Amino acid sequence: MLGQLGDSAKLLAGGQSLIPLLKLRFANPEHLVDLNFISGTSLIKEDAGTLRFGAMTRHAEIENSALAKKIPVLHDCAAGIADVQVRNRGTIGGSLAEADPSGDWANALITLDTTVHCLGPKGARKIALSDFIKDAYTTALAHDELVTEVEVKIPAKGSGGAYLAFKRTAPVYPTASAAVQLTLEGDVCKEAAISLGCVGLTAIRATEAEATLRGKSLNDKTIAAAAEAARAVADPQPDMRGSADYKRVLVAALVRKAIQLAVRRARGEQIEGTHLYA
Ligand SMILES: Cc1cc2nc3c(=O)[nH]c(=O)nc-3n(C[C@H](O)[C@H](O)[C@H](O)COP(=O)(O)OP(=O)(O)OC[C@H]3O[C@@H](n4cnc5c(N)ncnc54)[C@H](O)[C@@H]3O)c2cc1C
Repeated sequence: MLGQLGDSAKLLAGGQSLIPLLKLRFANPEHLVDLNFISGTSLIKEDAGTLRFGAMTRHAEIENSALAKKIPVLHDCAAGIADVQVRNRGTIGGSLAEADPSGDWANALITLDTTVHCLGPKGARKIALSDFIKDAYTTALAHDELVTEVEVKIPAKGSGGAYLAFKRTAPVYPTASAAVQLTLEGDVCKEAAISLGCVGLTAIRATEAEATLRGKSLNDKTIAAAAEAARAVADPQPDMRGSADYKRVLVAALVRKAIQLAVRRARGEQIEGTHLYA
């Protein structure tokens, strides 16, 4: 249908980004192609060392999934998106396709080995998430392509992660967010992935912060150094949620807390993470 209708058509998934845009008259498609009528597009499956999520899988289904809890970053993210109403309708595929700079999924998933499965008239293709998100509200999808599935590699033994956002109230996007994924060998950090949300046009991978942890014992000093490196790479815009300086300080504090939580989880502790509210 997208091929036949061309640019005048838009896909409708959970409608939690698209419908508000229609109501505000920021989007005016002539046709809506409703994905909700296609069966088998909402699924969570473990398959050959990966977790696979159908594009139409709702945030709430991931929040309540025992399989998704195996990767705590995913549970933290799903459970903290907006409120119950939004989580019951909004989908993981719609969230990635929207590429909202404040959206939670891209920031959480970028710290994992994530592949986006896409389908169009020319066939299927798989795109690494880091190549899928091109810019704010811009992805690698062609206008006649859709997301069918999101595939996440299950992290190695000794891994732990955390996703923390700071929000003014539940049904608003975060002021800043941080995702951390670590693999430990004893007390030493073997692998680290750190990403920052809402402080740039896309999620920002804090590679300097990752380097300050890799190969080191994790203690207050190394964690503080990573948080400082994350603060330095944040590139926030001032807005009603706070000044640029405020957001830099905030994101560094979130990184520090997320590392501490990720370390405890990597050591086997079962801890619920919750977002922080003003
Ligand atoms: C009050 C409120 C608060 C919110 N707070 C948050 C928040 O804190 N954090 C957060 O991350 N999000 C938040 N959201 C957004 C929510 O998570 C949306 O669910 C998400 O951004 C889009 O998913 P959707 O399924 O609703 O997509 P839709 O709104 O249906 O579609 C969004 C866009 O993606 C396209 N699209 C949808 N599915 C596909 C597909 N499979 N393939 C290709 N293109 C597709 C559509 O054409 C459209 O352009 C909030 C929304 C509301 C209304």
